[in-house]
Amino acid sequence: MKFFSIASGSSGNCLYVQDGNSSLLIDCGLSGKAVESGLSIYNIDIADVTGVLVTHEHIDHTKGIGVMSRKYKKTIYITPGTYHALPTSVGVIPQDKLCFIQNTQFTVGNLRVTPFELSHDACDPHGFVIEGSGKKICVATDTGIITQAMTHTIAGSDFAFIESNHDLHMLKHGAYPPELKRRILSDYGHLPNTDASHLAVWLASKGTKKIMLGHLSAENNTEEIAYNTTLNALSRAGFLEAAKNLIVASRHFPSTIIEI
Ligand SMILES: [Zn+2]
Ligand SMILES: [Zn+2]
Repeated sequence: MKFFSIASGSSGNCLYVQDGNSSLLIDCGLSGKAVESGLSIYNIDIADVTGVLVTHEHIDHTKGIGVMSRKYKKTIYITPGTYHALPTSVGVIPQDKLCFIQNTQFTVGNLRVTPFELSHDACDPHGFVIEGSGKKICVATDTGIITQAMTHTIAGSDFAFIESNHDLHMLKHGAYPPELKRRILSDYGHLPNTDASHLAVWLASKGTKKIMLGHLSAENNTEEIAYNTTLNALSRAGFLEAAKNLIVASRHFPSTIIEI
């Protein structure tokens, strides 16, 4: 399997996963052009992408899914709850490009997808485990807490893409209005660096060797702080291989490509 992040953060999220001739985008909070140019870095033609998995309706995850379905003819895999909560700016998704998913496993070509519930201020938010060629990866961002459904499903992932949204000190002492701070810190907000580091250590204890941190806040985090928080936790716990392989996804630029 191959994975990379095209962009990750509140300005737009789009991840890519591929096994053989099956490939999916996870979310599309970017313009069609931005997705095309992100994919082109690794010589991937958007025509070869099978479809788009949608985690939840927030615009940083869905801005481009209408265009993906209409212009690029991609199938959109989405729960009914998320679909009905989509911002109107997404536009119409043609019926034949709409594939409703439930909270149960399904397959797209070679890829086996298992959704799991997250805790986020959205209608029906999900993360995904994706398996192919005997390997397992997971994507878990936009969650205020580490849910039981999450740990149950992601245990044993070979590669994990997890949220490391904010540094608690920067958020608490930063310029965000109190209501927004409360929202981010709530059980339905976003995962702070410290929780990401605990999750990373737990994943490593279950065999995960490669971890990428994503969905970093522009205001309340830096790549360096997020990286060091989890690096130190993994190193202290003795998970040196996972520490060595740790990567932070940029908010705006494609990450390195991960071979799993
Ligand atoms: Zn988001
Ligand atoms: Zn969100």
